[in-house]
Amino acid sequence: MTDLTQAGCRSTPVLRERGQREVFCGLTGIIWLHRKMQDAFFLVVGSRTCAHLLQSAAGVMIFAEPRFGTAVLEEKDLAGIADANAELDREVARLLARRPDIRQLFLVGSCPSEVIKLDLSRAAERLSVTHGPTVRVLNFSGSGIETTFTEGEDACLASMVPTLRETHDKELLIVGALPDVVEDQALALLGQIGVNPVRCLPAKRAELDPAIGPNTRYALTQPFLGETHAALQRRGARIISAPFPFGAEGTTLWLKAVAAEFGIGPDKVDAVVAAPRARAEKAIAAAARTLRGKRIFFMPDSQLEIPLARFLTRECGMEAVEISTPYLHSDIHGPELDLIAAGPTLSEGQDVDLQLDRVRTTRPDLTVCGLGLANPLEAEGLATKWAIELVFTPVHFYEQAGDLAALFARPLRRREILAASHPNRMEAAE
Ligand code: SF4
Repeated sequence: MTDLTQAGCRSTPVLRERGQREVFCGLTGIIWLHRKMQDAFFLVVGSRTCAHLLQSAAGVMIFAEPRFGTAVLEEKDLAGIADANAELDREVARLLARRPDIRQLFLVGSCPSEVIKLDLSRAAERLSVTHGPTVRVLNFSGSGIETTFTEGEDACLASMVPTLRETHDKELLIVGALPDVVEDQALALLGQIGVNPVRCLPAKRAELDPAIGPNTRYALTQPFLGETHAALQRRGARIISAPFPFGAEGTTLWLKAVAAEFGIGPDKVDAVVAAPRARAEKAIAAAARTLRGKRIFFMPDSQLEIPLARFLTRECGMEAVEISTPYLHSDIHGPELDLIAAGPTLSEGQDVDLQLDRVRTTRPDLTVCGLGLANPLEAEGLATKWAIELVFTPVHFYEQAGDLAALFARPLRRREILAASHPNRMEAAE
């Protein structure tokens, strides 16, 4: 593990690229958000393409009534012949009559709704008057024109912040949609450490939504929540600056930063976390046998790249060649950059052809990238990891730290097995 006192790469010059990008749109976030928020419905105002993306990403649900759907804009809507607002009002009324369990309705903008300039914020205001207070109607954009796929969650949470009640109580707010089992583990650890009260954004149900105020202290669990962070600051809440809870080290530092904010010393945290931390370190060590000494290249996709590079270099012995992120927020990513040893190229944004040239030149052992780039790189003999898997798999806090390391070890092991069983084919690919 790297010495904490050694210089990190916060002041490393950043290569900024603004060319063609390979991204997935923000509608993807609905897949994990609809599972988390049990009384919410996500109504995408979009095209058949948007509906197909959601269905194929979520899997077709046959037995359950899904909590997302698409109001498909037909040609007459796109041509301005029909009144899309009137049709939307009708669709929403029909949906809410059929689903009285819905308490929060998100109108989700898409490329088509933005192209015809359908004003979903006015629609949300209008529909809140019609269907409130039983149902709160909000809107955010999941459009793929300018977003990466994790920006959907950020936009959704940011849309909720202005509507949250005011409080002057000192409370901890955990921000980011974690799988329930992971959230429960985090709450149990914080309870044992003595941090309370603790609220979560998003909450499982609207009635559990947190209140916000100048004494709210919030800790992000995801590094892609830049807009939500800004919205919380506008409400006077203060961020607890810390590395993210990935891996044994990241989780411990995150918990210690939170505890310190509530007047609890690091010794208490160490005592509480000793057993789960030891379990995490043991599980990580098993995967690290495959990862140690391997070179990794992060293409910009999930916005998890910087914390994952910190975890893989410090706890798994990997060497980062390039760490690329769609956006680099110094106040969110700064504590992570302090921990990453100087050396790798740091880049923000993408010019995909130039970046692919760098991948081909450096030939890393593993490239973390989007789905669209993985197959071509695999065909060139380069092992890849799909970034999107990282948000669909529970990877936060101690109990998941071994799984997180294993996600990166798996493609390397697969290649080792293939190379052993088909040495000639692997040579041909390379
Ligand atoms: S929002 Fe845009 S990028 Fe996403 S599925 Fe719809 S049309 Fe495609």
